[in-house]
Amino acid sequence: MNNNAIRFACNGCGVCCKGRLIPLTLSETRQWLLRGHDVAVLLEAFDESTWAAQPGEYAHSAKRAVEVVSGRAPVRVVAVMAANALGQCPNLGADDRCGIYDQRPLVCRIYPMEINPFIALRPENKACAPQVWETGEVLFTDRIVDPLLHDQVERSRQADRDDAEAKIAVCEDLGLNVAAWKGNALAVYLPAHATLLAAINRYDAGQHSPTAAAWKVRADDDTLRAQLDALGVALAEQNQADYIFHRV
Ligand code: SF4
Ligand code: SF4
Repeated sequence: MNNNAIRFACNGCGVCCKGRLIPLTLSETRQWLLRGHDVAVLLEAFDESTWAAQPGEYAHSAKRAVEVVSGRAPVRVVAVMAANALGQCPNLGADDRCGIYDQRPLVCRIYPMEINPFIALRPENKACAPQVWETGEVLFTDRIVDPLLHDQVERSRQADRDDAEAKIAVCEDLGLNVAAWKGNALAVYLPAHATLLAAINRYDAGQHSPTAAAWKVRADDDTLRAQLDALGVALAEQNQADYIFHRV
């Protein structure tokens, strides 16, 4: 099939390396921290009701999350470790070239393609200039055509699944126990890089604190709070300040 054929030829402008958080695998997180750079931790919670009409999307998301108990309710929590490039990536040179090109994270290799199979690739939503979509190889039709890109996307999805338990264990060890409700907001933590690295090292050495955390969900919308409360979910205070509550 060749419907929706999308060509792409990166022009190396470096715009995608600025003003964003860059999701990392756990292995990449270790490397990023060891280079001395900061990594944010994003926490989202959900349950089956989040995708009542899309069981396939729920199944995809559930595999990259861990079931925990919040109050009286089982919920799933997904932790995303993301390099802080809100100004610009610390590896981006003055010439807009990547300083760790051979070791750059998977998402940098995959961009601007989507990793989530339920999110359609839309060039207008990407940082790339319009003209880069008019030349180059066909990368995408009804599926990813380029075999290298396909492999990288699969590796990224597999890492999300493989790392899920470890990332939640690291969060519990650090006391990062408030997640935002998926689709409503993100709870964004900005731990000191040495603190996060130490927690990952404790996990790697089997010396973390695996005690069950008192998971809470932060929701500011009154209707959502009432829904979660009815489910028995433990709701977080709305004025807690050790994370950024980023509405989406
Ligand atoms: S690691 Fe390299 S490619 Fe990835 S955001 Fe940083 S500068 Fe850009
Ligand atoms: S914004 Fe697009 S065109 Fe520019 S470097 Fe990133 S991927 Fe390439």
